[in-house]
Amino acid sequence: MVEAWIGLGANLGDAEGSVRGALRALDGLADTTLLRASSLYATPAWGNEDQPPFVNAVACVQTTLPPLALLHALLALEQQFGRVRDPSLHWGPRMLDLDILLYADQVIDLAELTVPHPFLHQRAFVLVPLAEVAPGLVLPGRGRVQDAVMQVDPCGISRLEG
Ligand code: ADP
Ligand code: MG
Repeated sequence: MVEAWIGLGANLGDAEGSVRGALRALDGLADTTLLRASSLYATPAWGNEDQPPFVNAVACVQTTLPPLALLHALLALEQQFGRVRDPSLHWGPRMLDLDILLYADQVIDLAELTVPHPFLHQRAFVLVPLAEVAPGLVLPGRGRVQDAVMQVDPCGISRLEG
C-alpha cells in the first residue's frame, strides 16, 4: 500500500461536475481508496492562456497499483469523462486531466511517467489545494508544500463553495 497524490483539472463542459465525479471515480478504481481531497478551486488557465478557466483539486489515494498501472487507470478515467486529445495542442482545454503528482516518495523517470510531476512545484493551481490539505507534505527535492506555495502567485485562484 502506498499513498499517491493526484491532480485533477477540467475546463470544458461541466468542469465542476467532472472534477467531483472524478473524485468519486478515483475511490472506485481497483485496489485504490480515496483518503482525502481538497476543496475545488477556480483557477486561471496556465501555459496556454487562450482557453476557459479551470476547476482544479488534488486528492490523496491509497493504492496497491504500481505507478504505471495507476497512470493507465487515470488515462482510462479521462477518456470515460469524455476527454479527446488533440495532439497538436499542448496544455489545451480538456474535459478532465488527471496527473500523478506524487507516488509515495518515489522519483520516477520513464518516457511515459515523470514523478514528482515536473511542474508541480511551479503551479499555484496544484500547490494552493495541496497546501489546504497537506501543508507539511515533502516534495522530493523541493521541500515542504507550505514553503513551495509561498513561491508561486495565487492571483486569480478562488475556492469554490460546497
Ligand atoms: P498535461 O497533463 O501536461 O497537460 P497530458 O494530460 O496531455 O499533459 O498528458 C500527456 C502524457 O503525460 C500522458 O499520456 C502521460 O504518459 C504523461 N505523463 C508523464 N508524467 C505524468 C504524470 N506524472 N502524470 C500524468 N501523466 C504523465
Ligand atoms: Mg495530464
